[in-house]
Amino acid sequence: MVTDPCLEARQRMVEEQIRARGVVDERVLRLMAEIPRERFIPAAEQHGAFSDRAVPLECGQTVSQPFMVAVMTEYLDVEPEHRVLEIGTGSGYQTAILARLAREVYTVERLPLLRQQAQTLLDSLDIGNVVYRTGDGSLGWPEMAPFDRIMVTAAAPDVPKSLIEQLAEGGRMVIPVGQEGEQTLTIVQCSAGRIEETPRFLCRFVKLIGREAWSQ
Ligand code: SAH
Repeated sequence: MVTDPCLEARQRMVEEQIRARGVVDERVLRLMAEIPRERFIPAAEQHGAFSDRAVPLECGQTVSQPFMVAVMTEYLDVEPEHRVLEIGTGSGYQTAILARLAREVYTVERLPLLRQQAQTLLDSLDIGNVVYRTGDGSLGWPEMAPFDRIMVTAAAPDVPKSLIEQLAEGGRMVIPVGQEGEQTLTIVQCSAGRIEETPRFLCRFVKLIGREAWSQ
């Protein structure tokens, strides 16, 4: 039998940090116990793989806090037939979760090293329904639009117009919006041609750097 030495630690992470704080989507809870978060964490940060905070990643970026990943995924409300756009691949941890929930994930990362590492790791985990791109995700991925769901895992000063335009009718986006250092996690819903923004709670993400975001 193959043993998974970190399974118990992940289950504890899910129970103590995520379910205990009110996340109820069983698919999200199950996936976060299953997906080997430790594989997405740099060697020097392994001690904090399951801790209740964001973890430093190469190039000054971060792997999001487990609770934040769970809440954002729950808010996104992904269904099995959905095509999802993710902006900010980073470690690929959120990508892996989205890929297990959706039909296809299109993920865009600004930094080639991170995109490449994430792609290699997800391939090794046999997660094949992901299409990768290195580039400026503040512009979305127009050739592949519209998307049923859009997840942005870096902070923007405003919701980028290109992303709104690439949201399908009935579509939904989750994005941290606000100033550097503190933002509001926001749900953007497109229904009957109207865009509605619902602020949820304060959060802190690294910056989305691009044409429709921060310049640096
Ligand atoms: N979901 C990732 C979060 C990584 S941090 C994880 O949990 O591992 C946010 C990521 O957004 C960083 O990797 C950063 O390089 C990337 N990013 C910043 N601006 C971007 C842009 N305009 N387009 C695509 N990716 C961007």
